[in-house]
Amino acid sequence: GPMGVYWVFFKFYDLLARFSCPPSHIMGKKQMLRLFPQLDERIKYACVFYEGQHDDARTNLSIALTAAEHGAVIANHAEVTKLLKNSEISDGSPGEGVPDNSRDSAVITGAEIRCRISGESLRVRAKSVVMCGGPFTDWLREKEANDTKITPVVNGAAGSHIVLPGYLCPSDTGMVDMATSDGRILFYLPWEGHTLVGTTDVKCSITDRPIPTEEEIKWIIDETNNYLSPQCQVTRKDVLSAWSGIRPLAGDPHAAPGAPASRDHVVSVNPTTKVVFVAGGKWTTYREMAEDAIDRLLETHPSLSTTAGPCKTLSVDLLGAEGYDRNLAVSLAKKHGLSIEVGARLARCYGGRAVDVCHVFEEIPQYKGPIVDGYPYLLAEIPYACREQARTIEDILSRRTRLSYLNLDAAYRAIPVVAEVMADTLGWSASETSRQIKEAESFLETFAGPEPAAALKAGN
Ligand SMILES: Cc1cc2nc3c(=O)[nH]c(=O)nc-3n(C[C@H](O)[C@H](O)[C@H](O)COP(=O)(O)OP(=O)(O)OC[C@H]3O[C@@H](n4cnc5c(N)ncnc54)[C@H](O)[C@@H]3O)c2cc1C
Repeated sequence: GPMGVYWVFFKFYDLLARFSCPPSHIMGKKQMLRLFPQLDERIKYACVFYEGQHDDARTNLSIALTAAEHGAVIANHAEVTKLLKNSEISDGSPGEGVPDNSRDSAVITGAEIRCRISGESLRVRAKSVVMCGGPFTDWLREKEANDTKITPVVNGAAGSHIVLPGYLCPSDTGMVDMATSDGRILFYLPWEGHTLVGTTDVKCSITDRPIPTEEEIKWIIDETNNYLSPQCQVTRKDVLSAWSGIRPLAGDPHAAPGAPASRDHVVSVNPTTKVVFVAGGKWTTYREMAEDAIDRLLETHPSLSTTAGPCKTLSVDLLGAEGYDRNLAVSLAKKHGLSIEVGARLARCYGGRAVDVCHVFEEIPQYKGPIVDGYPYLLAEIPYACREQARTIEDILSRRTRLSYLNLDAAYRAIPVVAEVMADTLGWSASETSRQIKEAESFLETFAGPEPAAALKAGN
């Protein structure tokens, strides 16, 4: 593209980041190929800019665990099956600290929660209810209305990614194509020792088991190959894992007529039930989303604002910040006789809490081994993850390690090992262990590897 336009664009980007990163700059072909030898020689120049990256699953868990440290009650695998109106839950008294408007019988002041592991249900009473269902917001709104015929407000846009071997990308530099054949942006990034490429953007219906189509995978490969040298051309067989996620694109059903449509996240209050929902948005705006949702909640329940102080989340350290320092990986490697690769992964993922993971294998030495060959994940992470509410093999394969997203074959190989350690840790019976294994296998069927996804082949 035109060099001048991109230069201005990335200088503006630097400004948005308040110059907290090194400055963006233009790089000539020779230097570019030294930094990124996988690129094709036909590329004339590169604009270099800086971006943040995270392990989204760990950030998510860290936020939840930090909230728990500050007094929140959190529960994994807890499904809201019903939202309860005041008239359904109350014994007539508003209860201690319950807002005045909960005397109104249409206001929702509780929920029925089903534990997806044990199947048990319980009722929880609340001063107020906020729904944060992402793409599943309308499923929750159906429960709120106790009606399946609500007008949906969240549209789904499926985004598929493919993961390639790490050697196809430098370990600290990626590429972004701002002008693919159909105008979408394509990222080609080093991620967890691999190369992550995506994403597509396809209108889709909402499902909790999205599957990447072969058409999307082919599109990503074709676009990528436009930029890679002849030696590094990607084939379908290079795909170690491919998966799809659904972005929530939200509208506000309770907005005043003519109100401007939101560009990003939507916070909406149902005037009858007083339930607040927040949907849409990005990881980069997660804190702002939460703050906006709580502000609306306080407007809706003024009596709660008497005890609420200003939002503090900007300055609250997430779990793992304490005890972290820039040489933690080295300290862990030296103290526990770990490879620097394992030390670095523990430090990056758990921060200061990596010390607690190491305690696990100091007590049970056989847990110092890897979950699966070729990956820096330790067996010790499995019992540790169970302490942080991991309860299924899928939890370990997808959100505690990232194996299913990185390498489908390695994830399948890990299933029996993970099952054995979880069974030991959580006291699973033989039948529970085999049920868990079947569930994990059916989860992996929604991923593609060098072959199409099994669920796609089965026509699901
Ligand atoms: C392909 C893709 C690429 C993206 N790339 C980026 C990016 O580069 N940068 C960025 O900033 N953002 C990115 N995002 C956006 C970001 O991931 C989402 O905006 C974010 O995950 C939305 O968070 P959420 O908490 O609103 O929803 P979710 O993360 O979807 O969480 C909703 C939760 O509600 C739970 N739930 C649903 N129903 C119930 C029920 N009945 N009871 C209990 N729980 C329930 C679900 O299990 C789920 O855990 C991307 C998203 C996708 C899909």
